[in-house]
Amino acid sequence: MNSYVAGLLNNLKEQNPGEEVFIQAATEIFNSLAPLIEREEKYTKHRILERITVPERSLSFRVVYTNDRGEPCVHTGYRVEFNSALGPYKGGLRFHPSVNMGVLKFLGFEQIFKNSLTGVNIGGGKGGANFDPKGKSDGEIMRFCQAFMLELHRLISENTDVPAGDIGVGGREIGYLYGAYKKITRRFDGALTGKGLAWGGSLARTQATGYGSVYFAQEMLAKKSEALRGKICAISGAGNVAIYTVEKLYQLEAKPVTISDSTGFIYDPDGIDLALLKKLKEELRVSLAEYTKERKNAKFTPVSEYPKGRNGVWSVKCDAAFPSATQNELSLEDAKTLYANGCRLVCEGANMPSTLAAIDFMLAQKDFLFGPAKAANAGGVATSGLEMMQNAQLESWSFEEVDGRLHEIMRHIFRTSYETSKEFGDEGNLVLGSNIAGFRKVADAMIDQGYV
Ligand code: GLU
Repeated sequence: MNSYVAGLLNNLKEQNPGEEVFIQAATEIFNSLAPLIEREEKYTKHRILERITVPERSLSFRVVYTNDRGEPCVHTGYRVEFNSALGPYKGGLRFHPSVNMGVLKFLGFEQIFKNSLTGVNIGGGKGGANFDPKGKSDGEIMRFCQAFMLELHRLISENTDVPAGDIGVGGREIGYLYGAYKKITRRFDGALTGKGLAWGGSLARTQATGYGSVYFAQEMLAKKSEALRGKICAISGAGNVAIYTVEKLYQLEAKPVTISDSTGFIYDPDGIDLALLKKLKEELRVSLAEYTKERKNAKFTPVSEYPKGRNGVWSVKCDAAFPSATQNELSLEDAKTLYANGCRLVCEGANMPSTLAAIDFMLAQKDFLFGPAKAANAGGVATSGLEMMQNAQLESWSFEEVDGRLHEIMRHIFRTSYETSKEFGDEGNLVLGSNIAGFRKVADAMIDQGYV
């Protein structure tokens, strides 16, 4: 990293105390951008790095709802509108107890570059609340979503800011949020994506992040004349991304053998039972511990048995790994274990699942393929972009149409990231390639649009 960029990063640390994950996301980007900043003087002249690291607007607000016992529950809601150089702010809502401004700034910052890579005209944003949907009744979820929208509706519309789902926000929550939005604003428009199919949602949006991540892995392997067929795959997570990663891996004749949730992980040597996984997580919303009741060969390892500071799921022997749960779930030690066990591909379905040290290690292995989140998990938001297009034209495209476009977008992201890595003399380093390619488009748009 050159001294100008290093100085900026120090400044950012001082200005954003306690926001470790935001600083981590910025460090990764700044590391990658150093060669571009040295080559193109305009980015320094127009102070792009200083400008791009400050959200255009961020709001936090009180959310109060009444639980089933009639008691008031108080939470903090947020929306970070990070960058609108390429289009309306776009990015999901996360409902999880760990949510705070630092977490949403990391996610919103990543979203800027990810969205830029998709080729769809969307800016970057993120929001959510420190609310845990786990164990709550449907009524409680609905009342929380309504209370949350009572504030959020002021910011969003089809062409200003378009939220969607993320951890803790799926089809059910988007339904309640959309109902409240419509009631408050009297508008039926595409202000949210991930909607139900009967009321403006897109086919293949549910599958898109997982499918997209596997399409990306396919592209990485194709470059080495390899394929997913027959490969043993370890997946973390058991939410939307993980489920549809497993589904697509089966379609390509790979063998997914693990999944995980906040209680532990499943190793199923016969291959994950996809129907059972969907039943437990999409219908019953219960712990993965239940999985072994129906699958006798499978083993459940509770989190309490993980080696200290490690994620148990990465100790399973595999050819390829798909971290699809959450940030910093794959450490340097985990990466070393995967490598020692023969794993040669990591494709990130979650946002920033690998630590900086793990990424450095994986990039340093010459026989290893690493697909960074910004590129590999962009299929979800790209398909949200396709949902926005359908809404704007009052159309509903077929599953094949949307899936075909998603596949082409993932190929395009891979090609762009790969070509950019080559242009900057580090062929195959997709962290460098995707960061530079994503950044360049946003930065040039910011220059065109003047100092705002
Ligand atoms: N939460 C997803 C992401 O991290 C999707 C966002 C969207 O569809 O707007 O990209």
